[in-house]
Amino acid sequence: MSDRTYSLPPLGADPSSAGAGTTPGSFALPPDIGGPRTFSSPDTPGMPPPSSRTAWDFLPETPQAAPVTQLEMARLGEITPQMRRVAEREGHLTPEQVRCEVAAGRMVIPANRVHLRHGLDPMAIGRAARTKVNANLGASPVSSGTEEEVEKMRWAVRWGADTVMDLSTGGDVDGCREAIVRAATVPVGTVPIYSMILGRRIEDLSEADILAQIEHQAAQGVDYFTIHAGTRRGHLRHVRDRLIGIVSRGGSLLAQWMIHHGAENPMYTLWDDICAILRRYDVTFSIGDGLRPGGLADATDRAQLAELETLAELTERAWRHGVQVMVEGPGHIPFDQVEYNMKLQRALCHGAPFYVLGPLVTDMFPGYDHVTSCIGATAAAYHGASMLCYVTPKEHLGLPKRDDVKQGCVAYKIAAHAADVALGIPGARDRDDALTRARAALDWERHFELSFDPDLARALHDEDLDVDTDFCAMCGHDWCSVRISKRIQEFASGKDPAHAGAGRRVSAALTPEQRAILEQRGVLSADEVHRLASKTRGRVGASVGERAACHSDVAAPDTARAVQAAAGQEGTP
Ligand code: SF4
Repeated sequence: MSDRTYSLPPLGADPSSAGAGTTPGSFALPPDIGGPRTFSSPDTPGMPPPSSRTAWDFLPETPQAAPVTQLEMARLGEITPQMRRVAEREGHLTPEQVRCEVAAGRMVIPANRVHLRHGLDPMAIGRAARTKVNANLGASPVSSGTEEEVEKMRWAVRWGADTVMDLSTGGDVDGCREAIVRAATVPVGTVPIYSMILGRRIEDLSEADILAQIEHQAAQGVDYFTIHAGTRRGHLRHVRDRLIGIVSRGGSLLAQWMIHHGAENPMYTLWDDICAILRRYDVTFSIGDGLRPGGLADATDRAQLAELETLAELTERAWRHGVQVMVEGPGHIPFDQVEYNMKLQRALCHGAPFYVLGPLVTDMFPGYDHVTSCIGATAAAYHGASMLCYVTPKEHLGLPKRDDVKQGCVAYKIAAHAADVALGIPGARDRDDALTRARAALDWERHFELSFDPDLARALHDEDLDVDTDFCAMCGHDWCSVRISKRIQEFASGKDPAHAGAGRRVSAALTPEQRAILEQRGVLSADEVHRLASKTRGRVGASVGERAACHSDVAAPDTARAVQAAAGQEGTP
């Protein structure tokens, strides 16, 4: 019986499929798969409510002869092999739920029919699915090449990227794209305007060039395109007073085109033709936010919101063509404005998946922008984003290298996973719970196995103490609360009656050598650290790979109960 004198807020779902632990459940809203509040945070007062409309309200004026896209097939009630595969990968969803979400436009399966023939493993992006992460790749005119970028793609997938975007602007751009699509089992996205201006000035770009390049990349198998059609001529006056103007490459190029020609954005005027191309290959739109803010001071301004209204209009028009749609979002947003931005997009774009870059919640930490943006990304995913575009430590500074890609992917897997747990997505917390059990049992091997980065976890542990004992070098034996708690639980369960009153034990591990290790960490070479750490093995009665003599896994349960029964004590099962 609880002695609480207060009540908990209404609870959502339990993110642990085993119902383990003492947490009462997620504080998000109860899941509403099939409705507009599928896995959503409670609305702070004043937030825009969800739209009452979906893609069902934007059907073609004249029905298409035969369905081509996942959206069209979902509308006809057909469960495609790609929808079945998505349901396999999203264990909490049925194929029918996937179909319903795709039909409503709240979920997309970016799966170009060409890429499906080259080994694409279908996945889904939408609020009913787990939060996804995208990694940007691509050679620039000053750095990298095709082989390096294909390897970077594999490396990004190794570290959890659910999709990749090839943003190449230099080298063999066409060959690099082709190679990445052929090698990738994850969806590949591009920004076709980058290739449209290779070898020509933006002012010389014609409508025919635009459509030809989009058709070419669709035929190569690209799964989703960022098209900056929402940046309209009339919006440009709103960027006048910004601190940093237009920071999107596509947005700035198209603004230059519009100013030069005194005409509307050609991506906007060609929208219906572009939709027709994307439909033929089932390429998904990622409608670009060319006017996203590039600094906190420009967030949620008139330019950004005027463009968002156009993105909503373009979403509706694409749905009428049967084309799947995601919408792109900012960028740089103060933490307090993140929820509003997510919920405004949900309202205006009728639940179309929101794909956001970061957002960075502070601008003054270049070199650490995977961290500044990961904080915003966690809030964005909790409040409404379906896919997070990673930011690496090189953001604003240079082209990400291998380790930058890893740091960005890991930071964003943390953001996406933290949001999924908070939203109460069933099973999202299972691995956390398993790791907590291993940690509580001081089972280091299992602890490492369950870690997202086992090699790093093991290396950091072994840096100070390379034996399997029931404490680590952070607190040492006598102050290890997990070891003490484990023994308290073992005593309470009858497993270790000898624990009571055992008194203080002098730590075998906190030797002068080990103190030296802890004091000099970061100063010693890896060899020196290892040599010093190894000296402690003998003192705790262990060699590498074996448990130490003082490890608290000492008695089998039956033996412990027998000892306790003999001592006349009652064990608690
Ligand atoms: S020594 Fe400290 S950090 Fe290490 S396992 Fe024990 S409680 Fe945790």
